Amino acid sequence: MDFGLTDIQRMVRDTARKFAAEEVAPIAAAMDKSAKFEMSLVKKMGELGFMGVAYPEEYGGAGMDYKCYAIIVEELSSVCASTGVVVSAHSSLCCDPIYKFGTEEQKKKYLPPLLSGEMLGCLGLTEPGAGSDAANQKTTARLDGDEWVINGSKIFITNGGPAGVAVVIAVTEKEKGSRGLSAFIVPTDSPGFRVGKEEHKLGIRASSTAELLFEDCRIPKENLLGKDGDGFKIALTTLDGGRIGIAAQALGIAQGALNAAVAYSKERVQFGKPLAAFQAIQWKLAECATDIDAARLLTYRAAWMKDAGMRFGTQSAMAKLFAAETCMKATREAIQVFGGYGYVDEYPVERFYRDAKITEIYEGTSEVQKIVISRSLTSD
Ligand SMILES: Cc1cc2nc3c(=O)[nH]c(=O)nc-3n(C[C@H](O)[C@H](O)[C@H](O)COP(=O)(O)OP(=O)(O)OC[C@H]3O[C@@H](n4cnc5c(N)ncnc54)[C@H](O)[C@@H]3O)c2cc1C
Repeated sequence: MDFGLTDIQRMVRDTARKFAAEEVAPIAAAMDKSAKFEMSLVKKMGELGFMGVAYPEEYGGAGMDYKCYAIIVEELSSVCASTGVVVSAHSSLCCDPIYKFGTEEQKKKYLPPLLSGEMLGCLGLTEPGAGSDAANQKTTARLDGDEWVINGSKIFITNGGPAGVAVVIAVTEKEKGSRGLSAFIVPTDSPGFRVGKEEHKLGIRASSTAELLFEDCRIPKENLLGKDGDGFKIALTTLDGGRIGIAAQALGIAQGALNAAVAYSKERVQFGKPLAAFQAIQWKLAECATDIDAARLLTYRAAWMKDAGMRFGTQSAMAKLFAAETCMKATREAIQVFGGYGYVDEYPVERFYRDAKITEIYEGTSEVQKIVISRSLTSD
């Protein structure tokens, strides 16, 4: 593994950093307050290739690697974690399973509008009774002639409100347990589909988190993704890759918080000196910078392993676990460096602090990451 960036990765980072600073940062606080995502950003990010970074050009992707994707999510999240997760959920959770498990026909039909940003995608896995225990699905799909008929509901779905396509996991053969789950490509204009409740959240407030409702929702038979019974495998494989995106989001939020704390520590004067002159403050900054660097190495390693076609599930779990913990620490310490000014919304660190928490929860909680990691240590 090369610890540096290639010329292309550096160019991607510079482009994403510029876009984040010029287009996203100025509206991030307003989007957070209104809890509304500025959809024109998706179009602009589509034009820059951000909505389909790691997919081949033949399907409308940018033809780059997963490390470039992680870098883009990191840079966007360093100014706005909502924008980071809009890209991450779309790309990792919807485009990835279609690309990996779809037929040629499915890829040709669904990937071009998704990868260009013309359409947003989401993954519907979680249900009221199926969170960490993702196999405990109640949503059903049964074949009726040339159509699948889906009934049930999904909750907490990122991009659920605006998505044009959802990858949905449902039970096709109840008695087979997790081997009786299947995955489907559900266009959101399908009859019997509707978006339910939109959640009001602590953080990532501008990103849509919605309920998906299926009431005799009918989709064509050919919208089965992979084989009948492959649903749980598709969900777990998808989450392995998705965790790299969330690790990158956590890393970006942490870096954004550190950047703000460093700048403020040089400006704010107390006892006749800038805060940066006090050892207590220097140590906070040094510890956070070190943890962020370690989180970055773990995240980029997992992305590099995915690009190299290696098994990377344990490494992506490690990256997400550590980056999320780092994110919590860096955002908490950033507020401490700012003192009272960090607690009010004049500066972005209070938003970063609220945004940080979700990285310990979605795409598998930190406890679930530890289960994944320890399983790799103890299983024969
Ligand atoms: C903002 C947001 C966006 C989301 N986006 C999506 C999305 O796009 N698509 C999607 O399908 N889902 C999404 N989710 C759902 C998310 O992945 C789940 O919330 C998460 O997996 C946890 O499930 P749960 O909320 O049911 O918690 P639970 O599974 O009920 O867990 C509650 C607590 O118990 C712990 N716990 C559970 N089981 C164990 C165990 N065996 N050992 C130790 N501890 C355990 C958990 O770690 C946690 O601390 C989103 C959630 C949120 C809040």
